[in-house]
Parts: sequence; C-alpha cells; structure tokens
Amino acid sequence: MKKQIRKVLVINSGSSSLKYQLFDMVKGERIAKGLVERIGCGGPKDHTEALANVVAELGNPKDIDAIGHRVLHGGEIFKESVKVTAAAMKKMKSLVKFGPLHMPANLGGIEACERIFKGVPNVAVFDTAFHQTMPDCAAQYAIDPKYYKKMGIRKYGFHGTSHKFIVQEAARLLKKPVSKVNLVTCHMGNGSSLAAVKNGECVDTSMGLTPLAGMVMGTRCGDIDAAAVLAIMAAEKLTPAEADTLLNKKSGLLALTGSSDCRDICTAAEKGDKMAELALEMLAYRTAFYIGGYNTVVGGADAIVMTGGIGENSKEVRERIVGRLGALGIKLDKKANAKARGVVATISAKGSKIPVVIIPTNEELAIAQDTVRILKG
Ligand code: ADP
Repeated sequence: MKKQIRKVLVINSGSSSLKYQLFDMVKGERIAKGLVERIGCGGPKDHTEALANVVAELGNPKDIDAIGHRVLHGGEIFKESVKVTAAAMKKMKSLVKFGPLHMPANLGGIEACERIFKGVPNVAVFDTAFHQTMPDCAAQYAIDPKYYKKMGIRKYGFHGTSHKFIVQEAARLLKKPVSKVNLVTCHMGNGSSLAAVKNGECVDTSMGLTPLAGMVMGTRCGDIDAAAVLAIMAAEKLTPAEADTLLNKKSGLLALTGSSDCRDICTAAEKGDKMAELALEMLAYRTAFYIGGYNTVVGGADAIVMTGGIGENSKEVRERIVGRLGALGIKLDKKANAKARGVVATISAKGSKIPVVIIPTNEELAIAQDTVRILKG
C-alpha cells in the first residue's frame, strides 16, 4: 500500500523571492506560510540557502511527504503536472527559452528541494498546462508557420492552475460534472487573464506566448498593435530588452494613472481624476469585450466566474464590467455585489440570463491537491 500523503509543501520560487505554504492534506488545512526575499541581492545567496531558511522557519520538519512546485512554462511538452525525474527535469530545462527570468528560478527551487529534502518526491505544476487543450484556431498566430515549427511561437496562456481550480469549484457550485460545464473564467489580479472553458476544458485564453497579451493589467499593456511597439522602439531606439521592460513593467494601469494598484485608482476615480476614470473604463471595456467573445466561443456559458485580487474584492470594477454585459441578458444585483468580498457569492440578479459568480482562487492549495493526485497515480 502507498504511504499516505499528509504534509505537502508548496514552493513558488521566483527570481529573487521564494514563497512557501505547508498544508496538512488529510485535515485540508494550511499549517504555515512565508516568504524569503532578496535572494541573490543582499539576502540568501541562492535558492538552496533560501530554502534552508524556510526549513529553519518550519522547525526542521522530518515529516514532509511531498513538495509541489509552481512552474511557469510547460510548453507543449507538459499538458499535465508531472512527478520530477531526471528525464522530466531535462525536458523542463529545454523550456527555459520561454521564461528566461522565471524558469531558472522555478527549476532552481526544485533542485534546492532535491538537495535539502532527500528522497521526498517533487511535483511540477505548470501555469500553462490547463490551456493545452486549446484548438489550433485559437492557439496559432497568423505569421509564417516556420516560427511555430522552429521556435514554438504560439499562444500558451498562463494562470492555468487558478483557472482550473475555479472551474472545479464552479462545477460544484452549479451542481454539474466538470466535463459538462461551460464557463468564462476571469482571473483579475496584478496580472489578469480570461479563459473560455467548454465541457470543462480550456478552448481559449487571453494571455499568449508570454503573460503580456490580453487584458489591461497592473503594469502590462495587454493587447496592442505590434506595429505600435515597433514604432516606439524605432523612435526611442529601444533594444528588445528595453521594450520588454516598457511593455511588461511600465505600462497598463501604472502608465495611465501612476499606480498599478486598483484600490488607489478606484479612490482617485471617485474624486474625479480623469485618467483614473479612463483606466477603469478601459479595464472594464476590455474585460466585457473578452467575456462577450468567449461566451460565443463556449457556445453559451453556464456562468461567468470572477476571481483574483480585483475579481474577489473590487465591487467598483465588477459593477463597471457587468454593466457592459446587458446584451447577454446579464444583470447585476447591486446589493449582492456590494457585499461580496473574498467569499463565494453570486452577484447577478435573479432574472440574469447568465449568473455571475465570485469564487476566491487558491493557487497554492490547487498545487498541493495536484501534487497528491499525481503521486497517488
Ligand atoms: P497577484 O496577481 O500579484 O496575485 P492579486 O490577485 O493579489 O495579485 O491582486 C492584486 C490586485 O487586487 C491589486 O490591483 C489590488 O489593488 C486589488 N485589490 C485587492 N484588494 C482590493 C480591494 N479591496 N478593492 C479593490 N481592489 C483590490
């Protein structure tokens, strides 16, 4: 008989930080969480040293049964989470080109765990995996196919762990099997993405080759005419790396308003700040635009689901989005919307043709659950 998997450590290893959560999967409880910062820049010298700090913080636990790792990119190789073996590690290393900043940190976290927690199984859970069911008509770009064949340039999508988690929760809420549920899922945080889910599977998503595409985000511009980028690069003589920083770190809500934080922007808009007002309307417009499109893509959604820091908490943004969905027969229940904060709630009115529900996401728990599922086989 296989050993019971009780304590699962979840690691989210970034380029200069390492976040962790420890779960008791039998009780279904989180036991601990924490963050080690400034890795390689004043704090611990590398991910192994950072992890050693985590182990000390946890009181040198000897009873960790498994470790789940958030990994940015699974390319077309990983359509599912995977138990880490030498062969899986080699394949993951071949995907560093898709995330030159994040992937080495993610893989460094796994290697640190292999060194420190000898014999404890590691599972890699990919941000892209849930989106691997997208048909070619949604995933391919209209450019010379040689770039797909040689370089793997196509849409991959991200936040997959979160979208998958809320699909499962929404199916339960709607009392339908996952395989029969059609949804538009909206993950709205600092980074945001929408997914079109048909019969429980992803058929389209708003992020692309990288997390830059789609929604207006905290510091990312989202969808933009590629020729606009070329024009700016030419005019300002930007290198690709500088253009990358401009579009990923200095655009979006931050560029429009001076803040990437939705709370600040809502407060400023309330006081009559015109750019804050415009930013919120751009955000709401683009979200509603995607919801309308994805409702068509899934052949009629059973529900629109919102999650992430903004989706779970911002009644102002939700009201602006839902206010633009009248053509779908969707109506907001203003009172329910005003009350809903960080909990499962329906914010659409009784007569709404499609319900709009809030479901808090929990990516770390989803990673822990997947870790147990993969190891149980
Ligand atoms: P990340 O993508 O980094 O995980 P989160 O999901 O935590 O981000 O979302 C962060 C966003 O959520 C920020 O824009 C923040 O302003 C917004 N947010 C959090 N709480 C609230 C709130 N009470 N009202 C409005 N926006 C909120």
